[in-house]
Amino acid sequence: MATKPKAKATQKSVKGKKWVYLFDEVRAAEKHTGSWEGVRGLLGGKGAGLFDMTRAGVPVPPGFTVTTEACNGFRKTGSFPAGMWSQATAAMKVVEKRTGKKFGDASNPLLVSCRSGAKFSMPGMMNTILNIGLNDEVVEGLSKLTNNPRFAWDSYRRLIEMFGATVFNLDDEIFEHPLAEHKAKRGYKVDTDMTAEAWKELVSEFKKAFKQHVGFDFPQDVYKQLEFATKAVFESWNGKRAIDYRRATAISDDLGTAVNIVTMVFGNMGDDSGTGVAFTRDPSTGDKKMLGEYLLNAQGEDVVAGIRNADPIENLVKNMPKAYKQFMDITRKLEKHYRDMQDVEFTIERGKLWMLQTRNGKRTAKSTVKIAVDMAKEKLIAKEEAVLRITPETVDALLHPQFDESAMKKAETDGTFFAKGVNASPGAAVGQVYFDADTTEKMTKENKQDTIMVRPFTKPDDVHGMIASQGVLTSEGGATSHAAVVARQFGIPCVVGASAIKIDLEKRQMTVGDVTVNEGDWISVDGNTGKVFIGKIPTSAPSLEEQTDLLTLLNWADEICARKGIRSTPKGGPTRGLQVWANADYPKDARRARSYGAVGIGLCRTEHMFFEPERLPIVQRMILSGDSEGRTVALSELLPFQRKDFDGLFEAMDGYPVIIRLIDPPLHEFMPDEEKLLEEVITMRVKNESEGLKEKENLLDAIRGMHESNPMMGMRGVRLSISMPEIVEMQVRAIFEAAADCTLRGIVVKPEVMIPLTGTVKELEWIQPRLERIAAAVMDEKKVKFEYKFGTMIEIPRAAVTASEVAQRAEFFSFGTNDLTQMTYGYSRDDAERNFLVTYQEQGILEKNPFQTIDRGGVGKLMEWAIAEGRKTRPTLEVGICGEHGGDPDSIEWCHIIGNNYVSCSPFRVPIARLAAAHSALKYAGKKIAEDK
Ligand code: ADP
Ligand code: MG
Ligand code: MG
Repeated sequence: MATKPKAKATQKSVKGKKWVYLFDEVRAAEKHTGSWEGVRGLLGGKGAGLFDMTRAGVPVPPGFTVTTEACNGFRKTGSFPAGMWSQATAAMKVVEKRTGKKFGDASNPLLVSCRSGAKFSMPGMMNTILNIGLNDEVVEGLSKLTNNPRFAWDSYRRLIEMFGATVFNLDDEIFEHPLAEHKAKRGYKVDTDMTAEAWKELVSEFKKAFKQHVGFDFPQDVYKQLEFATKAVFESWNGKRAIDYRRATAISDDLGTAVNIVTMVFGNMGDDSGTGVAFTRDPSTGDKKMLGEYLLNAQGEDVVAGIRNADPIENLVKNMPKAYKQFMDITRKLEKHYRDMQDVEFTIERGKLWMLQTRNGKRTAKSTVKIAVDMAKEKLIAKEEAVLRITPETVDALLHPQFDESAMKKAETDGTFFAKGVNASPGAAVGQVYFDADTTEKMTKENKQDTIMVRPFTKPDDVHGMIASQGVLTSEGGATSHAAVVARQFGIPCVVGASAIKIDLEKRQMTVGDVTVNEGDWISVDGNTGKVFIGKIPTSAPSLEEQTDLLTLLNWADEICARKGIRSTPKGGPTRGLQVWANADYPKDARRARSYGAVGIGLCRTEHMFFEPERLPIVQRMILSGDSEGRTVALSELLPFQRKDFDGLFEAMDGYPVIIRLIDPPLHEFMPDEEKLLEEVITMRVKNESEGLKEKENLLDAIRGMHESNPMMGMRGVRLSISMPEIVEMQVRAIFEAAADCTLRGIVVKPEVMIPLTGTVKELEWIQPRLERIAAAVMDEKKVKFEYKFGTMIEIPRAAVTASEVAQRAEFFSFGTNDLTQMTYGYSRDDAERNFLVTYQEQGILEKNPFQTIDRGGVGKLMEWAIAEGRKTRPTLEVGICGEHGGDPDSIEWCHIIGNNYVSCSPFRVPIARLAAAHSALKYAGKKIAEDK
């Protein structure tokens, strides 16, 4: 055709800037951007997929992409950048040549779709317009040419409808209402009942409605249509839904969307045509089984919107065996090529298959793990990659509460069962019912309620309500409906297509039979089974043992961390990755920690044990005795209790280190409340009761004598031990006696005694030798030997600064980062979190809450210094962290960088920490760490 040279001439005349790429110009796009990431940025994810498929020989309808750069230019100035439109029209000419059709030519018309597509997929959040190129003349031509007037008029009415809705923001109602009336008038049930005549009549009504609401006639100039559509897609980047979605997913506002102009292929040409969507593996469970839906004689949006009930993809083999086989082949190839589960859209036109989109599919936490593990086992990806594909949040989600099984069983029989639908997104949700997105959001945010959003089906403008809710329930749609896709992505439990439910949006209620749920009522939604119950069902945390894929993945994470040489730390530091230990005070916590994969106890707090009912009176007697002898007598009564505590702990941790911290809090914490006691004394005096009054008065005096104006910085930790060494002497005796007894029973013990709140090595010089003598004495008495260590917490900045001295005594350091953060910033945590931390974060003074994530620039620097200095004195110094930060992925990475041996966190965080430790190891493998923090 003569148009081609013209196209070239136009492209050259715009000073080199290329705004438009044909689907086979992937090389040029790669050259322009330098990488595939860059291509995705330039052409958007959908565009990049279409280019990639075209290159691989997959059947993709011819087309071209207008770049995100053009979108950003348009958004700045409000008009297309110079040269863009002439490049687009030139590209249209090429597409005309490739298809042998002509845009706007009634005798052989080319129709196109105009589709949004940003770098990161935002399903359904922006606009797409189909069937561009139809007008009053072309529709007649198409009708003759295809010998299918029904199809032609159906396509035309779709164009007017989509055009009105997306370009001019007309209400859906404007078009839905006349269609419903038509169907009712003629006694039709579904859209496919509509005849050619019926659609034709409807088109003239649509055109009237269009003119009435827009102010001018529906454009007959096909290039005008294309221009309007392109602008509308560009503008949809700044639509409310798109902005809300970007806020929720942290996608940058600057990226912009590309526009893909794609030759139309038609799924609505009769029963040898159809359209569908599919996931190459089950996005809910991760099972290696195609999950998809299709509709015969329909156009794309029908399936995606979940409006008509579609058929499962397996059935396609009966309708169109050849197309089905080709589809299976192509999707298998796509999965191999992208090495990930794909979410594809396709259309079959008169038996011929066309692929319209492929992208990495969104999925649940469960299937994320299963697919990664399966793909590593299939050798599609490496184990390391499988580990990297799982985020700490995913692991967190898998260990989140689910409905209590026995409570569920009971609910099923006691009449609270309400309905069952498709289990679209797993998890347990309990909340109050609301029937629209705005109310759901408002009740959640303003009234702080737990909410469940209930709708017949959801649309993109419902997303803000879904995100705010605990769970989502719909009465229509299937596993690939809008509600299902969005809920899975945000990890919101969701049940869709519970078709027994009749929702009455006006009365604000839903019913099944004679059971009614009103707005504000509580329900429980189980995204695992698809069941919905009236009222609240209790939830509980799932066990790790049953999650075999997650276990496999975490074992791979451990293997990665255990590799020698994966880390290059400053002199003396470990070259393997981090170990994960747990904070546990009682044997049952220790056992849980072991089952979650902890390989040590990083912090056992001993003071809890003093609070138990049979012990507290002894503790108080000990505190009140005026001298060392009195204290020793009381403490000898406590000794057997403590020995038993430690015995259980060592047994649970057979073979692994256990760090026991000596008494830390100020003693007044063990005493009765001063004010309460005072009240009692006054009441007794007023009532003239003398019995026991004297004792109470004495106790009150004693407590008053212990008063400190700032107890957290007062007589506690090692300071307390130095003024009353009898307490820790008893504790050390209990630890070593228990350890000796365990050793004699064949248990391997590795006790590590931790002295809290050290500020100067002189404190350790005073106390530690006394304690070491007791340790030696016990081992002598019991005639056993075992490994042990004495060390300290680093929680006072001075200890960190003087770490080289502290390490002369301490055989290990454990960062108590709660206190270390308080004292480094000079904030008291409770006061800060209550009063000013939020303001500080809002004002940008603090980027993150330093009590959740280690402040690398300050507290983190002190830690780094302490480790380096400590290891100068003692190269084998063992270093850990036992503050809450030990379970925070960002802080774990910091611990990896500075050369910790392990992190210790709450047993529940152990799986997350194991994964985060492996991520850090992989991220820094082979790098000189000091350069890259
Ligand atoms: P989204 O990003 O919301 O998925 P798409 O641009 O993928 O929007 O378009 C939605 C649907 O429209 C697709 O699933 C497809 O079925 C249909 N569609 C888009 N372009 C064409 C085309 N050229 N031919 C046939 N159907 C199309
Ligand atoms: Mg799509
Ligand atoms: Mg502390």
